[in-house]
Parts: sequence; C-alpha cells; structure tokens
Amino acid sequence: MKHASSGVVSSLLALLLAAACSQELETGEEALSAGGGPGGYLIRDASLVLTMDSGLGSGLLGTLENVDILVVGDQIAAVGPNLTAPGDVRVIDASGLIVMPGFVDTHDHFWQSLIRGCAADDDLNGWLNRCVFPLNVNPFSEEDAYAGVRLSTTGLINTGVTTGVDWSHNFNNDFMRGNLRALNDSGMRYSVAMFGLNLDGSDIRAAKEEFIDGHPLASIQAAGHPAPGFLEFHLASMVAVANELGIMLHVHLLENISQVAEDPMTVLRNTGALDMGDRLETAHDIHLTDADIAELALHGVSASHQPLSNMRLASGIMRYPDLSAAGLTIGLGLDGGTNDTPDTFNNMRAAVGLQRAKSLNSHETPTVDEVLFASTMGGAEVLNMESQIGSLTPGKKADLIIIDPNQLNWAPQLRPINQIVFNGQPQNVTWVIVGGRALKRDGKLVGVNVSKLLDDSQVAIDNIAPFLVP
Ligand SMILES: [Zn+2]
Repeated sequence: MKHASSGVVSSLLALLLAAACSQELETGEEALSAGGGPGGYLIRDASLVLTMDSGLGSGLLGTLENVDILVVGDQIAAVGPNLTAPGDVRVIDASGLIVMPGFVDTHDHFWQSLIRGCAADDDLNGWLNRCVFPLNVNPFSEEDAYAGVRLSTTGLINTGVTTGVDWSHNFNNDFMRGNLRALNDSGMRYSVAMFGLNLDGSDIRAAKEEFIDGHPLASIQAAGHPAPGFLEFHLASMVAVANELGIMLHVHLLENISQVAEDPMTVLRNTGALDMGDRLETAHDIHLTDADIAELALHGVSASHQPLSNMRLASGIMRYPDLSAAGLTIGLGLDGGTNDTPDTFNNMRAAVGLQRAKSLNSHETPTVDEVLFASTMGGAEVLNMESQIGSLTPGKKADLIIIDPNQLNWAPQLRPINQIVFNGQPQNVTWVIVGGRALKRDGKLVGVNVSKLLDDSQVAIDNIAPFLVP
C-alpha cells in the first residue's frame, strides 16, 4: 500500500514536471558536444550584463549595458562593445536579454530529488528519520543513485546553476559510484563533498583518483558532522584526509535547535576543523551565538545559506546580516530534496524575504544586489574558486547564463535587476553555458533524454520507497 501510494504521488510529480517543462526541454538524446560552437560564442548586444566584477562595470554587480561577451574555448575572452568574432564562433543575438554568471549552489544533496514531497510536515529530525536514515541500512543501487543525481543536475542546469556542491551521504559503494558517474555525465561544474565510509579516507582517495582528478569540471571535499561521540572521531579523520589532500571540509552547523545541545563548535575546535580556515564550509549556521559568529569569522570560515530548506523544515532563520557584518563569506544553497524543486530564483526571494519579515526592515541584508552577488561570486568565494568562476572577468571559465525577461511572469521591464530576484523563474533562463559548452540552448536542455530520466527516477523511487517510514 505504501509502495503503491508513493508510486502514484511520484507519477503525478513526474507528470507535473513533464507538463511544466514540455515547452522548454528536449526529449531526444543529443550529444553534449552539440551544444557549443566549434570555437565558442559571441553573445551580441546584451541589454544588461551583470559581470559581478566592479572593475568591469558599475556597482557591486559590475553592471554594463549593450555589450558583447566573447567566449573562446572554455574561457571568457572579452566583454565590451562591438567585439569582433573569430570566424568559428556561434553568434547569439542577446538584444533584450540579460547575461550574468551562472549560479553557484554551495550546498545540496543531489540524490534527494528522489524523495521530493517526503515527510512534508516534519522538522529536520523527523524528516531525516523518515526519508534519509532508513537508507543507511537498506539497498540503494548504483542505477538508482545515478537517476536521482541526474534528475537533480538536470533541474539545476534548467534553473541556471553552473556549479553545484553535492554533499553526498555515500550510503554504500554502489551508491557512490552511481552518484559520481552521474556528476561526471551532467556537464555541470561540481564539487562532491563525500562523507567518508572509511576512517582512513581510502574511499575518498580512491574516488578522487578514479572520478575527479581527470575531470576538468570536478573537485572533491571531505564531509563530516560536528557532533560528539563517533561522529567527532569520524570528523577528526575527515579533517586529516582533507589536510592531506589539500581539499575542503564541509559540515552542517547548528541547522536545528536540537543541535545546540551537541555543542558542535567545541567539536569543530577539538577536531582541528576550525583551523582549516577558509577550507571549512559550514552549511545552515542558524543557531549561532554572537561568540560563535565571531569565532567562525576569526578563522575565515565560510557559510552556506539554505532559506527554502530552513523554512520547509522549521529550522529557523540564519542571522544573515550578523554573519555578513562579521565578515563571513556567504553563498546560497538549495539543500536537496528538502526544497522539493530546484529554483534558484525562489531561493533568492526567500533569502531576501526572510530577513525583511524578521527585521521589519526593507533595507535589511541581503538586498537584491547582495543576494545576486552571494548567489554567484559569493558562492565562488565559499568554494575558494573565485579565481576561476563567479564573475564574467576575461580569463575566467565561461560559466554564464542568458535570461529572457520577455515572458508572462516578468514583462514589462522596469527595473530589470530587481526583477531577476522578484520575477525570475527557471524558464526565463534560456541559455546555460559551462566551461564554454551549452547545457541549455534557446530554452532547451542539451544532451539529456528527459523522458528517460523521469522514467528512471520513477523506477528508483519505487525501489527505495518501501524502506522509507510512512
Ligand atoms: Zn544539507
């Protein structure tokens, strides 16, 4: 009965998704390489360009109007008026359109697309107990992990995410292989935060060697959880592996009020995690004291903010203005199935709206400009990738999106920067380019068979649904 009803719900979800996407998603299998021009792109006469580089344009967002962007190979070659195109680039007419760097999703759990809608009325602990922890001790196959992660990456690309961080629960070795294969097939730039199954870090080392080191869009982090007992022991081993490999460590921090009793700041201190400085990424950061914020800032630790998830799971509201004022680098994240849908615009609206609703101050941090910066350059800084991505600075990787505001949910145009945050929806993202390769082109996803993806996702949730707690 449980199996049947969850299957019906999932089928409805798939139908809704298919209906919502049918106008913009290609259903045929298409080689990813078909997405790019042979030598790059000349994006011609964009009406508005948010470069996120104040040296290139005006203000925090580095705004320019009526300019071209030249992409050669995997890099941004030039930004400016009347650029000359080499003969082998594809010209995109961007008049009336907006160009900006792709979004950086700094904290997510890609497999969790499979459990959309699960335990809708529970808080974090109830949701984990019903929808996540049962999978620690039950089968989760490579194929099912692959389907869930591809469903997430496809949805993220559709909403303009060009770099995603996948904090993977690493349920078992088969799961992890499916997870990593899907990431490498996605075309996205990604960092996988791997919760090591082996205390000596051997599975992280092996994954890095087999899946990450040879892949130009891939990087890896170690993942742990700051709580006493075995988890503290585990976290110490993750710190050791991260330091040995020179990679980041990624933890959830004080997401739910119940975690205050675990004193995670002491665990971070004891394990040496805090000493990693800007190589420590903390997600959620909700129930922090003034002293906690000061200590994180002192160490240069970064924060990832999940407003939609925090609302959905009754977690609380991150003290965004205080973390920002203390100097912490802040990025945004979609945080997996807890948000039920990948929509970066919704996430930005929630980030702005939560603080306004809490403070009764319409000027509260983050402002519209600040949330756009945090969603791109801020995310790049969280990942220590600001020299490669996050802005349209020539020489950086060509990770960018083109937004079409001339649609029902957005028109007419009055204050386009405000409208990105307050009116934007995934269907307004008509082009997504990662490392010079188009993953969404003229409003259609490239290189993915969506109907097969929906079928495979349904098979996957039908396989694991019997293990979830009804
Ligand atoms: Zn999370």
